[in-house]
Amino acid sequence: MTAHRRLCLVLGDQLSFDLASLQGLDKERDSVLLVEVMEEARHVPHHPQKIALVFSAMRHFAEALRQAGTQVHYVTLDDPQNTGSVPSELRRWQSLLQPDELHITECGDWRLEQSIRTCGLAIEWHRDSRFLCSRAEFADWAADKKQLRMEFFYREMRRKNRILLNGDGSPVGGAWNFDADNRKPLPKGVRPPAPARFPPDTLTQEVLALVAEHFSSHYGTLANFDYPVTHADAQALWDYFLDWGLAAFGDYQDAMASDEPFLFHARISAALNIGLLDVRQLCSDVEAAYWSGNIALNAAEGFIRQLIGWREYVRGVYWLRMPDYADGNAFGNTRSLPEFYWTGATRMNCMRQAINQSLEHAYAHHIQRLMVTGNFALLAGIAPPQICEWYLAIYMDAFEWVELPNTLGMVMHADGGYLGSKPYCASGQYIKRMSDYCRTCAYKVSESTTEDACPFNALYWHFLMRHADLLRGNHRMGMVYKNLDRLTETKQQALWQRGQSLLARLDEGESF
Ligand code: SF4
Repeated sequence: MTAHRRLCLVLGDQLSFDLASLQGLDKERDSVLLVEVMEEARHVPHHPQKIALVFSAMRHFAEALRQAGTQVHYVTLDDPQNTGSVPSELRRWQSLLQPDELHITECGDWRLEQSIRTCGLAIEWHRDSRFLCSRAEFADWAADKKQLRMEFFYREMRRKNRILLNGDGSPVGGAWNFDADNRKPLPKGVRPPAPARFPPDTLTQEVLALVAEHFSSHYGTLANFDYPVTHADAQALWDYFLDWGLAAFGDYQDAMASDEPFLFHARISAALNIGLLDVRQLCSDVEAAYWSGNIALNAAEGFIRQLIGWREYVRGVYWLRMPDYADGNAFGNTRSLPEFYWTGATRMNCMRQAINQSLEHAYAHHIQRLMVTGNFALLAGIAPPQICEWYLAIYMDAFEWVELPNTLGMVMHADGGYLGSKPYCASGQYIKRMSDYCRTCAYKVSESTTEDACPFNALYWHFLMRHADLLRGNHRMGMVYKNLDRLTETKQQALWQRGQSLLARLDEGESF
């Protein structure tokens, strides 16, 4: 028998053929290991569709590797030999195969990487070259800065990767950022394309049955699973977006509309985060669409900023600051996450829409996450670990490296402004401007202190008043504090009282 040279572990979010640790495999002497483990599926109550996505994509990836002649060891969740965690499976297979070398590409999540690094095995680690900016490069960039800001990081990334630049290195269109053009509400009569659907094949149906059996207690439905689980289908989803979504993505990327969960969004983040799509190719396709005149600059720039700006920036912050970053709680929040986050049972239409579609599709777009469910959690003073767990559990694309900085830093400002320069707090007026939710809501967005007033309004002013010590000095909050100061003392007291009463109801476990 040929001696076993190399065993390469591939994790559920590393399903890329060009993964660093998969390069140079000897098909005779090397093999690949993939394991479905309960610890990863249960460490938070992941949405059943997310578990199905990862397991099904892993099985399809294993099949594709086998067809290419690679030896694959695959451990299913219900395999009686399955020991339930990545480190324990790694030890079991090390002892079974006795390979000369164990190879792993660095993990997305700190928790998992620590558990593997401390499992007592000698491992050759590879840099995750699927990201444009390595952990070390980000640390170098951050080293001499008093304050990190995504915008400056993003410009560096544009320059370094020569994306949307003129010949002299200046940004195309004369500016780096066209975000101001990307905040239009959806006009009446404009409707998004029907979402691309990918009905489950036999392998996915087997996974759906497995997930239904083991994870029925997790929040969220499996019924609507139609997400791509192969590279080819992920590419088809991307092509569909290029044809039907991208041109309008820029203008309406912040818009929200009742019963329209996807609008002009690509829905590719989950496929990208597990390795079914390649960020360089996505950037190149978007840039090509711009240069060919098919899309406006604000659409191209806005999309590319998400990919090489925010996505790479939050990963850099995560790896620079973990594990302490997860403990951030700048406002000292202690309130429990209301039960309606898990059920959608609330009379606030914006929250009901955002939560129900999250339970139904494991998806909400960034403004629903930031300015509806996130905004409410910020205003209500929810304890950061609880809201972070909710985001990590409920969204198909949520892995901790991307979820934690987005939730703890951007949504909750719990890192004290390390990641973003100001809290994204807003009253119901913002939601009214960017959506049609308020038209059919049980609450009145024009009211702030009456019993049927929009809860976001009083909670917004209450938030500003209770954290004035921390926020008044922030130059980006100057205008909102001027607005607060313009209110009469009587009005301020009424807003405070209404805010107190809403928060007390949350503490009683009431929904509203
Ligand atoms: Fe949301 Fe307030 Fe509008 Fe109702 S009125 S949809 S609670 S913002």
